[in-house]
Amino acid sequence: MEAMKQIQQLNQLNIVALAGGVGGAKLADGLAQILPPEALTIIVNTGDDFSHWGLNISPDLDTVCYTLGGLANPLTGWGRLDESWTVFEQMEGLGAENWFRLGDKDLATHLERTRRLRAAEPLSSITRDFCQRWGIRPTVLPMTDDPLATVVDTVEFGELTFQEYFVHQHCEPTVRGFRFAGLEAATPAPGVLAALEKADAVVICPSNPWVSIDPILKTLKHQELFASKPVIAVSPLIGGEALKGPAAKMFKELGFEASALAVARHYGSLLLTGFVLDTVDSALAEQVAGLGIVPFSTNTIMKLSDNRRQLAEDMLHFVQRLSV
Ligand code: GDP
Repeated sequence: MEAMKQIQQLNQLNIVALAGGVGGAKLADGLAQILPPEALTIIVNTGDDFSHWGLNISPDLDTVCYTLGGLANPLTGWGRLDESWTVFEQMEGLGAENWFRLGDKDLATHLERTRRLRAAEPLSSITRDFCQRWGIRPTVLPMTDDPLATVVDTVEFGELTFQEYFVHQHCEPTVRGFRFAGLEAATPAPGVLAALEKADAVVICPSNPWVSIDPILKTLKHQELFASKPVIAVSPLIGGEALKGPAAKMFKELGFEASALAVARHYGSLLLTGFVLDTVDSALAEQVAGLGIVPFSTNTIMKLSDNRRQLAEDMLHFVQRLSV
């Protein structure tokens, strides 16, 4: 009875989640299992968006939408379930670039998105329509409708576009900084600021802080919106490692230790009210508290759907404790 009551109370929270691709999509899915759809808005990084084979590709938006729609390939963390590769194989045969794999079902998304963008429909409107068609009920918003490109500055090659670094070069070059091309002119997509105003709390998903979350935070520009409500981040680093991707490597190459504590420091106490660490890192909780951020340790590895739901539930209880 008491547990039922607590879940009912969690239902009444209105949450905005900031998300990149894989880590963001998993926690967004957990939140969507608990919150009513009208109480959840997911703001997604578009700094990784790029053009390939003449198509506009939005990798993080697609990962979030495919995951929420039950369409994602759980083995790769990107792309569609039950995918086929006919077009890709034919393109390879014609000598097209093959370092970025695009499956047939996934291609339909990019073809239709590209067609509509060329007809001057904004990305946020296209995303809203795709979500409706895929049966996704929470609101998914790109951080901006404007072009913004994350550029990775590397020791070996100088500046690389994000996908050139991430996929083509397999994250191997040494990172020395980032630039967000188009940032000055970029404004938050319609609905983003209103969702933040209405939210009881903001959740920063366990996404890459440098290349998934920072572009969103920088594009929002209205940091004062965060001041009046709890902002809670979940660490993407567990035991000093990323579960996937270059987050830990980036911290080290930029001269920081790779740890959950470094993630908490990166966001800082001006932004964060609370910080969720994995239980394997619970020894760092005291140092997080020393930064002026309330720590909370729990299992943050979201292998299965139940783990996603459990982390979302633990986190929403944490939000409630921070709200009183
Ligand atoms: P990308 O844009 O596809 O690289 O995805 P994100 O930036 O959203 O996610 C990458 C980060 O997610 C990596 O640093 C991972 O360590 C983290 N991550 C992935 N799965 C999990 C998980 O189950 N739990 C936690 N805590 N972090 C995760």
